[in-house]
Amino acid sequence: MTPKTEKNILGNSVETVKDLSEHASPNFRGSITFNPELINDRYEALLESCPTNALAKVRENERTIISVDHGKCIACGYCKDVEPKLVKIQSKSALPVKTKTNLVEYSNPQPVMQSGKPYEEIGNELSEKIKKLFGRSLAIREVDAGSCNGCEIEITALNNPIYDIERFGIHFVASPRHADILLVTGPASRNMEIALLRTYEATPTPKIVIAVGACACSGGIFGDTYATTGGIDKVVPVDVYIPGCPPRPEVLLQGLLLAVNRLKPEQIAKSKQELN
Ligand code: SF4
Ligand code: SF4
Repeated sequence: MTPKTEKNILGNSVETVKDLSEHASPNFRGSITFNPELINDRYEALLESCPTNALAKVRENERTIISVDHGKCIACGYCKDVEPKLVKIQSKSALPVKTKTNLVEYSNPQPVMQSGKPYEEIGNELSEKIKKLFGRSLAIREVDAGSCNGCEIEITALNNPIYDIERFGIHFVASPRHADILLVTGPASRNMEIALLRTYEATPTPKIVIAVGACACSGGIFGDTYATTGGIDKVVPVDVYIPGCPPRPEVLLQGLLLAVNRLKPEQIAKSKQELN
């Protein structure tokens, strides 16, 4: 290596980006939202346009409103093509939740999506909690239960120099026996059902499971068919649902924070006893 190349490499300084929100593309399809003033009676075409049955018509106080299940929505935009004034696609992602019903938002009143915190802030909060709870790093085992690989690309990005998740004390492990958390993608294809179940059984307490992406949350674009189970909660208990197709790395980190927030010190103590 020439001194010039060496100087260039060392001169790169820190590669991580401090405020990732400045780097988010405004064209990114994060989630859909509605313009409630424009809701009319032409629901049928709108509902039929959705390939994942994420949209539903709900009667409330003699009014009809529309709901979107972010756990099913793949942000394809077909509904917007049918009703461009009613449906808006926003770059803001739907956020992770602890219970599946919280993935559903209604058109009226206007959905108020919580905004995600900056990546760095979530990471630092997570790092503090991990230190306090575990006294060591947090280990994740990723399980692909039949995904298209899109979610894996975003999960892999967590390890790149931009997101650099290891600096927060989080790392991926090869065996479920060494894992605290299972990060599961895919609709849980029938072929992966037993493998997922065995991975879950091999994971020590507290066995936290996170469903990553629309497929893992509900079956997504693969749906519930002869070849798929229609969501990983049909196979193993799920603690956190992360919507998106695929979810961005910052949303994945937010899902991890939600999962760690669910843990109690007694569960960690039990896990330590099991390992000794
Ligand atoms: S964006 Fe696509 S998946 Fe989402 S509600 Fe609209 S049609 Fe359905
Ligand atoms: S949620 Fe989307 S990106 Fe993730 S596995 Fe399913 S289809 Fe692929």
